[in-house]
Amino acid sequence: MTVLFRHAAHRTLQGAHHQPGGRDRLRAGADIGSGLVVNGGLVSGAYGVAGEIGHVPVAESGPPCHCGGTGCVEAIASTEAIVTRTRHVTGEAELTMAQAVERARAGDPAVREVFARAGHAIGRGLAALVNLFGPERVVVSGEGLEAFGLFEDRLRRTFAAQAFGSAARCELLLRPLPFEEWARGAAAVAVRSLFTPA
Ligand SMILES: [Zn+2]
Repeated sequence: MTVLFRHAAHRTLQGAHHQPGGRDRLRAGADIGSGLVVNGGLVSGAYGVAGEIGHVPVAESGPPCHCGGTGCVEAIASTEAIVTRTRHVTGEAELTMAQAVERARAGDPAVREVFARAGHAIGRGLAALVNLFGPERVVVSGEGLEAFGLFEDRLRRTFAAQAFGSAARCELLLRPLPFEEWARGAAAVAVRSLFTPA
């Protein structure tokens, strides 16, 4: 079993599905998605949602998430969340993600902490998924990976601390893809062909 985790693309892996009640879950800003691949097939879930790490709650006290929940991985670690938080800590209302990455790489401790916090949230979410399903590996991909070096360390540390017993042996595989591939790859079949190990 493989868990796919994608950061900062505009579609979820279950791209063709809609929320019950007709609400389209492919809204802008819904930019963390994941899915479970079992025996080469993407698990879609009885109601169209499965393995959705973006809305695993990892922080009791917030921030609020667009899904209506609180403290979801996506509310802390999505590109939008990182930009919002960085604007808050720097006091620069127009700051972009590229500038946030720049600041962090230049060593600004407050901005570095924003990315570390994102890594912590993702690590917790991944550990929850791994503890539940015990996959062989987790594939991490998406356009946000240009910044991956900024949260990789905290992500791996949190994952190691929260993954239970031998589940922690699960491999975290980093496989960056250009955004265009994600935009094209919304269909489950395309995603599966991108990710099924050779
Ligand atoms: Zn949420």
